[in-house]
Amino acid sequence: MTSNGTIYDMRDKVALVTGASSGIGRATALAFAKAGARVMLADVQDEAGDAAAREIAACARLRGGDARFVHADVSSAADVRAMVAHTVETFGGLDYAFNNAGIEGALAPTADYPDETWQRVLAINLTGVFLCMKHEIPALRARGGGAIVNNASILGLVGFASAPAYTAAKHGVLGLTKVTAQELATEGIRVNAVCPGFIETPMVMERGVALAHDDAARREVAGLHPMNRLGTSEEIAAAVLWLCSGAASFVTGEPLVVDGGYVTR
Ligand code: NAD
Repeated sequence: MTSNGTIYDMRDKVALVTGASSGIGRATALAFAKAGARVMLADVQDEAGDAAAREIAACARLRGGDARFVHADVSSAADVRAMVAHTVETFGGLDYAFNNAGIEGALAPTADYPDETWQRVLAINLTGVFLCMKHEIPALRARGGGAIVNNASILGLVGFASAPAYTAAKHGVLGLTKVTAQELATEGIRVNAVCPGFIETPMVMERGVALAHDDAARREVAGLHPMNRLGTSEEIAAAVLWLCSGAASFVTGEPLVVDGGYVTR
């Protein structure tokens, strides 16, 4: 525990978080900042991202950190290359990357699933993670080591009817995580994933299953978790920071499940 009560001291570190304008990404950017890191928030939602970065920067500066926003669509190779270059130029390097940006896609059985939605979900949720790692790895190598955490899902481990694209993409993220973990294991770069259960974010509360507007559905989804509740973004952020920290120095290729017991049922 550091003198101001935070668990980790990341004061000399630089963290990049994609999908940082909202939900889990925003909470994780804030957690990195509270640990003293300099944080680059990346997203396609510019207004919300700018506002988040301003708020987080104010908190980060209390410990000598900082926060900035950069526009980046993770499904665009050019945007991802520029995002990583901008992070390195702004903060002098890169130590931690949380590849978190994602969309839920449609809820429809495979036989009815729209082709264009399949392509879009795979482009953001799987190819986006590939592109991010491809451009982050040289920056981490230049630093002599670091940590990557990819945001998968419990749907990277188990099936969920009517979410074929999302489930396939998240299974792919775990495969990619294991491959890169092996490739980088002797270089001081650890690559892990988090597998959240249902988390109270706009993806789940406002869109997708839209639980904010349906008490019965909310109770039903909560009941899928033995803890009988949804998780919070802060609970996922805590897992991401642990995986990046020295406390997880012998952990790589791990799909860390943070799900209130969902996959144990
Ligand atoms: P959210 O919708 O609150 O946040 C997602 C963020 O990603 C948004 O700010 C959005 O603008 C951004 N984004 C979308 N497409 C992008 C793109 N092409 N490039 C850059 N940014 C983009 O949702 P969330 O729940 O915080 O989701 C974050 C991640 O967590 C996703 O990968 C999601 O699949 C994963 N996840 C969420 C849950 C859950 O229950 N909420 C569970 C498991 C995994």
